[in-house]
Amino acid sequence: MLKNIAVIGAGTMGSGIAQVAATAGCSVQLFDAFPEALQRAQKSLQITLSKLVEKGKISQEESTRIAGNIRYESELKSLSGADLIIEAIIENLDIKRKLFADLEQIVSPSCILASNTSSLSMASIAASVKSSNRVVGIHFFNPAPLMQLVEVIPAVQTSNEVLSQAVETISSWKKIVAVAKDTPGFIVNRVARPFYSEAIRIYEEGIADLTTIDHAMKSLGSFRMGPFELMDFIGNDVNYAVTESIFTAFYFDPRFKPSFTQKRLTEAGFLGRKSGRGYYDYREGIEINNPSEDQILLQYIFERILVMLINEAADACHLGIASASDIDKAMLKGVNYPKGLLKWADEIGIENCVQRMDKLYDEYHEDRYRCSALLRRMIRLNQKFFAQ
Ligand code: NAD
Repeated sequence: MLKNIAVIGAGTMGSGIAQVAATAGCSVQLFDAFPEALQRAQKSLQITLSKLVEKGKISQEESTRIAGNIRYESELKSLSGADLIIEAIIENLDIKRKLFADLEQIVSPSCILASNTSSLSMASIAASVKSSNRVVGIHFFNPAPLMQLVEVIPAVQTSNEVLSQAVETISSWKKIVAVAKDTPGFIVNRVARPFYSEAIRIYEEGIADLTTIDHAMKSLGSFRMGPFELMDFIGNDVNYAVTESIFTAFYFDPRFKPSFTQKRLTEAGFLGRKSGRGYYDYREGIEINNPSEDQILLQYIFERILVMLINEAADACHLGIASASDIDKAMLKGVNYPKGLLKWADEIGIENCVQRMDKLYDEYHEDRYRCSALLRRMIRLNQKFFAQ
């Protein structure tokens, strides 16, 4: 097992990843190019650990042990003894590539170099070093200490040995690993797109208002948050940027097309909870409309968004982005969906899913509603995603 871990970038993700590794008993070095970031990370870890002790989640000794497992470094050279380095710096390909090239000069030949990138190609990051077979994507979700899922992404250059070491190490940190192909959005950020985009589409067409759409997904689908509540929580700027980058990365496949509604909100500074206004208005005294209780309308909204999610999950499976079980695991543990989408497809019936997709396609004649070929094939072969 890899024990000497270095994390580069002491921001939101890096400090969380360092906490996870330190909690698992690893010796962790946290490096940042900016000393203030290291100080902030150290202070925020102290606060987090004290809260955990107060709540009785960990003992005082445990807290001291975790804090003691982390060293804060301001020299890149001091990471030379690391077995695994996880980079969590700014999401910029050129800056990441330069860092990886610098790291290769410092570390031992067996050191694994990982990136926490959400949207960049692992192949292009790996190509920045000579021994690119040691580079792998290890994508944590925010907040890293709380979210159970980690996507592990082998680049085309990654060796099987490095992939299995990464999977083994991250699993030993009590995380749930889903292995994903090096494609835009990996699993979660790709498969989850219709949760937002189809909800926006229903809203834009005036089929229902925001509260009704959110209510449909929560009451009939048991999703913890409705799409609009969730977009306001994530931030419309962040959510729009992910949608746009995935759309571009998929060579403008209409399935991933961003919406003007979200673009305008972002341009207006209506970013969501953090700015006091997004889809909803969070200013004091502003009342939220009651949702409609029209069961036919709620059912229509829920089924339309669900089938679009299932279709995306099925297509990801069809294209080998990940196995059916890893796709379901990813959506359950990465975004807390109430049920795996492919298990859901089995339950409501594959034929039913195809009919619903075809109905949408017949109505709109837009490529966005094309049914995954895998679902059609499964009907022909009378297959399910999972054996009962
Ligand atoms: P952040 O801005 O909170 O932190 C980035 C840190 O990197 C900062 O402390 C900064 O000082 C440091 N840094 C920047 N350039 C550096 C360099 N050249 N060398 C060393 N340190 C440098 O960012 P974040 O939200 O933690 O994101 C980090 C990475 O994780 C990005 O690749 C991002 O796409 C990915 N990611 C983010 C989230 C999220 O929800 N925030 C989720 C998953 C993955």
